[in-house]
Amino acid sequence: MIPYGHQDITEEDIVEVNAVLRSDWLTQGDKVPEFEQHIAKYCHVPYAVAVCNASAALHIACLALGLGTNDWLWSSPNSFVASTNCALYCGAKVDFVDIDPHTYNLSPTALAEKLHAAKKNHRLPKIIVAVHFAGQSCEMEAIYHLAKQYGCYIIEDAAHAIGGQYQNQPIGICQYSDITIFSFHPVKIITSAEGGMLVTQNPHLYRTLQLLRSHGITRDTDSLQTPPPWYYEQIQLGYNFRMSDIHAALGVSQLRRLHQYKQQRYDLAQHYTQLLKTLPIQLPYQHPDTQSAWHLYIIRIPATMIKISREEVFTQLRQQGIGVQLHYIPIYRHPYYQKMGFDPNQYPCMERYYTEAITLPLYPTLSFAQQDTIIDTLQQIFHQT
Ligand SMILES: *Cc1c(COP(=O)(O)O)cnc(C)c1O
Repeated sequence: MIPYGHQDITEEDIVEVNAVLRSDWLTQGDKVPEFEQHIAKYCHVPYAVAVCNASAALHIACLALGLGTNDWLWSSPNSFVASTNCALYCGAKVDFVDIDPHTYNLSPTALAEKLHAAKKNHRLPKIIVAVHFAGQSCEMEAIYHLAKQYGCYIIEDAAHAIGGQYQNQPIGICQYSDITIFSFHPVKIITSAEGGMLVTQNPHLYRTLQLLRSHGITRDTDSLQTPPPWYYEQIQLGYNFRMSDIHAALGVSQLRRLHQYKQQRYDLAQHYTQLLKTLPIQLPYQHPDTQSAWHLYIIRIPATMIKISREEVFTQLRQQGIGVQLHYIPIYRHPYYQKMGFDPNQYPCMERYYTEAITLPLYPTLSFAQQDTIIDTLQQIFHQT
């Protein structure tokens, strides 16, 4: 089976990880700050905080922005559940904004309408989570202006998107947001096995995120003039969400190949687009302000096409050993969220997308020969019908 995504681990990665294993510091050593500095530099921001995974990153991002009981967090339903679970961890409430029918990202038009209505009902969100779906940035400038108008914070969920650009700036620069988070799960663009990172331009948020990541404990005390060497103190309730140096070493090593990965993913995506454009399917649309990191390549089998359904195309591809996927089941459709009473009819673009989408395999070590097999199989499926 050709999977939809796969990590690329080189001998250099193994050497880097081994070096940490042979060192004195498996955690809380030099590799985590090194990884943070490299990510901060890459994103053109002063501050980065590494954590054990991106779900933890979203959780402490919400806490740092003061999300609590009776607050609302809004996001796109076209995402992994972590994008909104973070609000539930804080005791806050979740609502969704429909997606744009072309980019499949949170729609600024739908957001404007929903904010207008929410203001009247005094149910404005404290935080908007903008998920850069498939690696393509949301329309951040428009979302930012709406957030300013209505007094909301913005977290960019860039779990798919390290290496992508928006208005010729790296995703993660936080020009239009308070915090951006990345994931380094093996299926994402670069991996540290498990791992996540927060980046921000705000020194106060940086300080709070550092505390929240490690029990709320500090050695820099205000209360003692010259603290003794053994002294530390807990000043708020934090967690142990630290990244280990073993993970950070893998991350540092992988980051060196981000440029190469970006190019390989772009080339594979171009190849799909070139060879699939004659089929009666919808190919990914790229907004002119964006340069995607190409985490996912999505095709849509229009529901109006009666010859063959999405289900049939999906099943046939799987039967031929092609590990297609579906990104995503709308978050509000999961049983846990259904109990909160969401009505799918409120999200017509998401519902339609959900009946039509298929994710094709895309990862740097996917060979052109494997890709041609996928393309040939798709062509056969459409020609036999
Ligand atoms: C993978 C993913 C996450 C969570 O990342 P982890 O590092 O696995 O916790 C969050 N948001 C999105 C959009 C993701 O794809």
